[in-house]
Amino acid sequence: MDAVEVLTNMDRIKPYFQPIFSADEHLVIGYELLGRFQEEDEIRSLGPFFSDGSIPEEYRLEVDNYLLRLALGKFNEQQDDPFMLFINRDPNLLMLDHGEEFLRILQEYVPQEQLNRIVIEISEAAYKGELDPLYHMLTYFKTYGIKLAIDRLGENSHMDRIAQLSPHILKINLKTLQNSGDSSRDILYSLGMLARKMGAILLYEYIETNYGMHYAWKNGGRYYQGHYLLPPEGQFVPRNLLRDQFKKEFHQFILLEKEKLEAIYDLTAKFHTHLQELLARHRKLPFGTSLLKILGTELQFMCFRLYICDEEGFQKSPNLFYSGGEWRIQEEYVDKNWSWRPYFLENIIKMRHEKKGFLSDSYSDIETGETIRTFSFPLNDQKYLFLDLSYSYLYENDVLL
Ligand code: CA
Repeated sequence: MDAVEVLTNMDRIKPYFQPIFSADEHLVIGYELLGRFQEEDEIRSLGPFFSDGSIPEEYRLEVDNYLLRLALGKFNEQQDDPFMLFINRDPNLLMLDHGEEFLRILQEYVPQEQLNRIVIEISEAAYKGELDPLYHMLTYFKTYGIKLAIDRLGENSHMDRIAQLSPHILKINLKTLQNSGDSSRDILYSLGMLARKMGAILLYEYIETNYGMHYAWKNGGRYYQGHYLLPPEGQFVPRNLLRDQFKKEFHQFILLEKEKLEAIYDLTAKFHTHLQELLARHRKLPFGTSLLKILGTELQFMCFRLYICDEEGFQKSPNLFYSGGEWRIQEEYVDKNWSWRPYFLENIIKMRHEKKGFLSDSYSDIETGETIRTFSFPLNDQKYLFLDLSYSYLYENDVLL
């Protein structure tokens, strides 16, 4: 895009708005402001203009502020529908005057008590300066009720900086997340934990398919944005425009998830009964290596590692580990302590009180790197059996993946 053409034809700049929906109300709760430029009979995105470092900062700021004024003019006409307006700002440009002009423009158009409808969107990873001045400026904005969203979260995000900035909203880009491949699950997990600790809302953007929407729903998404829902347009839409679609699709997601949870529940009960039977058949054997060997042979189709711990997490047996077509005994694991593992003690207490085995969620095994689940089973009040289920078994019973 030719920068001079944009700068000399500012009247061809148009604010576009992409709706953002909420999962709990199925309504439009806000819009992200995007810049467009009319080029003959084509509407082009101003994104490349804003991110072009070769265009002098003051020109980019001028266009950005021009766009902002146009958008706020339209925003102001919508007093009866109190949606939020998400405004992208380059934190590097914003810091040139510590956000003074930005705040001045907002105050010019938006009454003080409505500034809480404004969300400033910044990409933390793109910020090149010191964190402290940015932090102070954003904290100052927050005193006016202005909300903070961090977008373009992914591999390059700094969790510590995000935690310090304490945003109201984390925007997760499904497209870049998919490009992260296998690590996407871990990135999402960290972001989800962080959001929960900070009390931030997860917003998924670039939702382009029903699958993407399902993914967002399954992964704690409260806000949704993307072409699958609605593309950016020059005007606002009725807030309940997609309520029926949301209702229908959520109903499908809920049905599928319930089916899956029921299947997991049934499998857990089946494992429990199966183990009870096996243990009853071999009740003369002490809780040690020979019992593990018998269980290993019986359960070879589903598990690749078995061991026994006491209620403090000290391992009381070797590992029985299946590799290279046979069960191996790994004595070096005796007496290791696993109480430091997340949820370990909680799970022991749960098993002791409920006297039932249960299945963990799926996670990556530290040694094999494969996705596994662990079935834990109380042998008595002091001894607990752990069975690590193999990836191939989870794959065959794909509700477990
Ligand atoms: Ca954005």
